[in-house]
Amino acid sequence: MSDKLYEQAVRVAERAYAPYSSFNVGAVARARDGRVFEGVNVENAAYPLGICAERTAISRAVTDGCRPGDLEEIAITASPCGGCRQWIHEFRFDRVTFKNAEGELVRAEELMSAMDEIYSLLVTIDYPDGVTGGLRRTTDALRAVLERTRGDLTTAMVAARLQGAIERAERSVG
Ligand SMILES: [Zn+2]
Repeated sequence: MSDKLYEQAVRVAERAYAPYSSFNVGAVARARDGRVFEGVNVENAAYPLGICAERTAISRAVTDGCRPGDLEEIAITASPCGGCRQWIHEFRFDRVTFKNAEGELVRAEELMSAMDEIYSLLVTIDYPDGVTGGLRRTTDALRAVLERTRGDLTTAMVAARLQGAIERAERSVG
C-alpha cells in the first residue's frame, strides 16, 4: 500500500503552491476506514507562514473528523521537517513513507537501526587519520547525530507508551 500511496503523493505534489522555493511537495494520509487526505505545501512571501504538505493533509483529515489514532499511514514526497515529525507523532501513524536525501524510499521506523549499523561499522575502522582522511572526526560527528536521534525516538516511544497506558486506564475507570 505504501508505494501506491507514495505514487499518489507524487501526483498531488504538482498542485503545490511553491513560487519561492519551486520545491513542490505532496503528502497523502490514509485513515483506517480507507479515506485518503491529500496535501501540498503552500508557501507565503513571509517564509515562516508557509505550511508543509503533510500538515495540510493532516489538517484536512482533522477537518473531516479524524483524531489521533484514526490515521494509519502517510506518504510524503520529501523528508518531513522537525515540526511535521511532531505532528506525525501526535497523530500516531503506523507507517510513514518518504524519500531520504539520496532519493530512496524509506520507512521512518527502519532508519534508526540502519544508522546504528553504519555507526557500529565505522567505529571498527581503526587506521591512522592520514589513511582514512578524517574518518574519525566524521564518525564522532555521526555519533552525536545518532545519540540525538535515539534520544528523540526514545522520547517519542515513551510518550506513545504513556499515552496508551493513560487511555487504557481511562477506559477501565470510565
Ligand atoms: Zn514540515
